Amino acid sequence: MIPSVLPTYSRAPLSFVKGEGSWLIEADGRRFLDFGAGIAVNALGHAHPALVAALTGQAQALWHVSNLYQIPQQQELADKLVEATFADTVFFTSSGTESCELAVKMTRKYWFEKDQPEKVDILTFEGSFHGRSSAGIAAAGSEKMTKGFGPLLPGFVHLPFGDHDALTAAITDKTAAILVEPVQGEGGIRPLPDVCLKGLRDLCDQHGILLIFDEVQCGMGRTGRLFAHEWAGIDPDIMMVAKGIGGGFPLGAVLATKNAASGMTAGTHGSTYGGNPLACAVGSAVMDHVSDPAFLSEVNRKAALLRQGLEGLVASHPDVFETVRGSGLMLGLRCKVAPGDMVNAAYAQELITVPAADNVVRLLPPLTLTDEEIATALARLDAAAASIRT
Ligand SMILES: *Cc1c(COP(=O)(O)O)cnc(C)c1O
Repeated sequence: MIPSVLPTYSRAPLSFVKGEGSWLIEADGRRFLDFGAGIAVNALGHAHPALVAALTGQAQALWHVSNLYQIPQQQELADKLVEATFADTVFFTSSGTESCELAVKMTRKYWFEKDQPEKVDILTFEGSFHGRSSAGIAAAGSEKMTKGFGPLLPGFVHLPFGDHDALTAAITDKTAAILVEPVQGEGGIRPLPDVCLKGLRDLCDQHGILLIFDEVQCGMGRTGRLFAHEWAGIDPDIMMVAKGIGGGFPLGAVLATKNAASGMTAGTHGSTYGGNPLACAVGSAVMDHVSDPAFLSEVNRKAALLRQGLEGLVASHPDVFETVRGSGLMLGLRCKVAPGDMVNAAYAQELITVPAADNVVRLLPPLTLTDEEIATALARLDAAAASIRT
């Protein structure tokens, strides 16, 4: 017998009934400190008053209209994103996967319109994650994601992580773009050093190919800048966004330069839900908070505090933890024990964390967390680590 919900997830035996700021309340009344934030989605925590107001205000006026009509809420959010970033134009989606689809289509159309339709190859990296669609799994290329789902969408070349020589050697006349997460999320919180991001930009400029950043997880203030690539002082041509941008409401976006988007004319792409009034009203409220320099400087201050505490934790549990890595409030504890065991031990302390590849436990708290909550999380992680027998 198959369960009535398709059994594609292995779920923890937890069922939350309410969220308040950085806290999730379980059906039995236990209060969990949420260092997962729906996998970097609840950027402003749970039930943030500004988001509740934006959502309910819009819900009472108009939920959805088709993209056949003008949508002022969409225009407003697009203007804010264009104002705050490298981008000249924005397309709204409802998920990261959909953003990946458009990034791939936009790249192909770009070269088609340039009369170089042979340029179809997108270079991607080991450990990357770009969503679960046919293009997304083909882009990531790992056996875990692709096995059984062939034939895979062609046009992706997979390279080792952080090997600039292998990358340089892989560029051919068929290369259309390089696609990379500035900080790998699912891959185990692996930041690409600024010098590598700059190197990627140089390489793309030198060969006239497009640079695509997947900031679905690391964007929207997560690393202490509005977008993670800003730390390196370089810009992509196309960028995928989702997760944090809706603060919990399904919303995604593709941001692009005028040049990269030049092939995408009326009728070439669309989405029924993408950028509807409800989603964009919430997204706009998220954007107002997260793009505020004062908000971002608080993220950086709190990130430094958390990181310092985590370094201490690693030092006091050398048998459990190997190292801390990441950027801003996108942090990973590389474990010497199975990360699943660490996540379960943290559940027992009423702390939510998220496992990732490469033996890492992810810490992705709401960007609004308080100093006191940082102290609580550190104490709970300490107790969780102490409870693990090694
Ligand atoms: C989550 C994620 C995606 C996919 O987003 P969905 O909203 O789950 O479709 C793509 N890229 C990265 C880097 C992600 O973390």
